[in-house]
Amino acid sequence: MNYNRCFHCGNKLIPSTADMKISYEELVVEVQDAPCEKCSYCSRISFGDEVYGTVERFMETMKPKGISGTVMNYYENIAKGIEEGQ
Ligand SMILES: [Zn+2]
Repeated sequence: MNYNRCFHCGNKLIPSTADMKISYEELVVEVQDAPCEKCSYCSRISFGDEVYGTVERFMETMKPKGISGTVMNYYENIAKGIEEGQ
């Protein structure tokens, strides 16, 4: 298996989930259980561009509704919300 390496310590990154806080223009949303990669050694977390892209697309569609400060679950609210919106 081909692992990415931690940018901080160079150890293996393993797939995991974590909470992230993301601000997009004037909106701030807390996202729970977002897919990420976590370092097996120093526990640093990195989210992929795809995750940011998905959350930003979601926030773009939600912007007119004013959801600033909302807590969202990545799979339940965001990934699903984008599917339903298309
Ligand atoms: Zn590390």
